[in-house]
Amino acid sequence: MAQARGYAATDASKPLQPFTFERREPNDDDIVIDIKFSGICHSDIHQVRNEWGNSSYPMVPGHEIAGIVTAVGAKVTKFKVGDRAGVGCFVNSCTQCATRDLDIEHYMPGLIPTYNGFEADGTTPTYGGYSDSIVVKEGYALSIPENLALDAAAPLLCAGITLYSPLVHWKAGPGKKVAIVGMGGLGHMGVKLAHAMGADVTVLSQSLSKKEDGLKLGADHYYATSDAETFKTLAGTFDLILCTVSAEIDWNAYLGLLKVDGSLVLLGIPENAVPVHAFSLVPGRKSLSGSMIGSIKETQEMLDFCGKHNIVSEIELIRMDQVNEAYERVIKSDVRYRFVIDMATL
Ligand code: NAP
Ligand code: ZN
Repeated sequence: MAQARGYAATDASKPLQPFTFERREPNDDDIVIDIKFSGICHSDIHQVRNEWGNSSYPMVPGHEIAGIVTAVGAKVTKFKVGDRAGVGCFVNSCTQCATRDLDIEHYMPGLIPTYNGFEADGTTPTYGGYSDSIVVKEGYALSIPENLALDAAAPLLCAGITLYSPLVHWKAGPGKKVAIVGMGGLGHMGVKLAHAMGADVTVLSQSLSKKEDGLKLGADHYYATSDAETFKTLAGTFDLILCTVSAEIDWNAYLGLLKVDGSLVLLGIPENAVPVHAFSLVPGRKSLSGSMIGSIKETQEMLDFCGKHNIVSEIELIRMDQVNEAYERVIKSDVRYRFVIDMATL
């Protein structure tokens, strides 16, 4: 067992604070990563504050992990000491069924989240990336392309794959009109990725305050959803709408912006339910769907795609002791566009 240092939440109402804990002994198929950078995802905040009702404490959040490999087990083939490696939202999954071949292992029971879960033994808690090191099976670690800055690449491990996967699944590309709702951590990655795939990209943000940035990152159009005219002007426009909003909004209004056969895909996970009227779906054969991160294979594909197109996150690098303040700013949508913790400041 190796001693690790990090920051943890001890219950839903307290700020994160310094925490020491033990990382498991590496097995033959494990690698050890010296964590250099860790992104702050809104899901960290939901879980720290028990907004999904499934939190266990102490909790070391963080599932946008980028670092350098410091040790490899005897059977490791994919990584060597000194390599850049990333870890996303899960560190193990069911190996009993054929889901790894279908690249849907992240939708199967038995998924072991990077934190707020338990290792395969069912008793050892998993601890995430707001820490100095992690031990992970090589099959659940990702290679980060050499041309991408490690700090700005960290958010690709969750925000990047969460947008890449539905864009690929719903075939975003030339001739497709894609809207991204919410210009936050997830949303700004969606703009960059959809643009690189060749789609016509529209941002639907609460206001026009981030319009200049949105257009710079690759959006073709930018509208404020606080303006009721937006919903009239854009009615029946989109093939695909990806909703990254973490609050309850009226999905019926957004369904009205879809073309016939269009899909509204929920990525954001608000605390409470939102009613959807059948009339929002039935006339127009529209779909309301959800999507969650992506498989390990697809996550590597996304990283390689980002390497090829030079895509990283727009980040604000912070010290570890600024994490609680950063959470407050994320909640106020005051982030341009992802906070990343420099783990050297731990
Ligand atoms: P974020 O950086 O806070 O971005 C969310 C954006 O939603 C904000 O920037 C804001 O954009 C918009 N927004 C916030 N409050 C709103 C409101 N009341 N009404 C309308 N729009 C509002 O968060 P994130 O890290 O991107 O995560 C977003 C959500 O996705 C969270 O619920 C998170 O848990 C979830 N998530 C899901 C997955 C998955 O696999 N499906 C993966 C990661 C995260 P504007 O200022 O532009 O309006
Ligand atoms: Zn996340």
